[in-house]
Amino acid sequence: MSSVYLLRYSENPDVFKGLRGFLNLFSEVVSEGDRVAVKLHMGELGNPNYLRPALVRRVVDLLRELGAKPFVTDTTTLYPMARFTERGYLETAAYNGFTKETVNAPVVIADGACYEPVVERPVRTVMGCRLRRVEVAGAVAEADCMVVLTHFKGHLMVGFGGSIKNVGMGCVTKRSKSEQHTVNRPVLDESLCTGCGRCVESCVFGALSMGDGKPVMDAEKCVSCGMCKLTCPNGAWRLPEGCGEELQVYLAHAASAVSKALDGRVVYLNFIQDVTSLCDCRPSGSPRVVEDVGVAASLDPVAVDKASIDLVDGSELLGEFRRFKGCRDVLGSIHGVDDTVQLRVAEKIGLGVMEYEVVDVSVP
Ligand code: SF4
Ligand code: SF4
Repeated sequence: MSSVYLLRYSENPDVFKGLRGFLNLFSEVVSEGDRVAVKLHMGELGNPNYLRPALVRRVVDLLRELGAKPFVTDTTTLYPMARFTERGYLETAAYNGFTKETVNAPVVIADGACYEPVVERPVRTVMGCRLRRVEVAGAVAEADCMVVLTHFKGHLMVGFGGSIKNVGMGCVTKRSKSEQHTVNRPVLDESLCTGCGRCVESCVFGALSMGDGKPVMDAEKCVSCGMCKLTCPNGAWRLPEGCGEELQVYLAHAASAVSKALDGRVVYLNFIQDVTSLCDCRPSGSPRVVEDVGVAASLDPVAVDKASIDLVDGSELLGEFRRFKGCRDVLGSIHGVDDTVQLRVAEKIGLGVMEYEVVDVSVP
């Protein structure tokens, strides 16, 4: 059984003060002089639901108290939007309030030009996972340890986005993102296609061309970024059946490889606040599902994600989501996906355990 430390907002309304309660947990992993990767998603341009810079600053300051040298980091996206390039990401981060001055640490794009990826293997592979190598983004792999800050929320494809997803997809190179996303490569439903050609124009990888009035995909060039699906006005590109569950298998394996690259020296914090139905990669916000809960933290990414799911289930549902009252897995039910696959797979390959005990963090 793993310990999950919980700072409940209902009992600790001063969040900045309350975060100090995690100092002991940080010190289990972080030593004086360590370069600490503070991993988070700094928000897509236009999305207002990402983690606030002031909370990140607070964590950075606590790590500095331990004598560590933190840097704030994330990787570029697979899809060609604002955070597709290192420069684009840094500009987006600054727009969203993440600069060296605001977070009191360098903002580093972990797969940027200065960093060579480090190849790791998943600890072991189960459930037909074909991921044999994972390219861990250079700045993450070179760090001594990592503190993962996750805005816990819903996710269209995998039900929820928690620590496992933040690490499995967020700490790897474009190539490794693409290999994971192969399971959800869009498939054309020709009966809905009018041959307008918009998807062909949207594919910056040159994987689509028009043939006989319909788009034709070159599988060798396709990186599974999903832009064609996003662009089509007729919904003619569809996701393969069951890909939400299959993607979770890959996420768990990739997360295990990242953890391995850091010798398991990782602390996971899930901020269960502004729990929106959709993820922070969308270029606009989405409605909140539940009242804010607090911050759950652990050395075990499986336990902290499981506890976060349970805490969401036990919280007051908001607006249209009240219809999911009584559901055992609200976020998974919203998206019609079994989002416990990532937990079960991660447990099977030894990344953590689903059984946990909650330890309340009291404000010191
Ligand atoms: S074909 Fe679609 S999924 Fe593949 S690279 Fe092009 S836009 Fe992305
Ligand atoms: S955007 Fe949609 S309708 Fe237009 S060519 Fe592509 S698949 Fe067909």
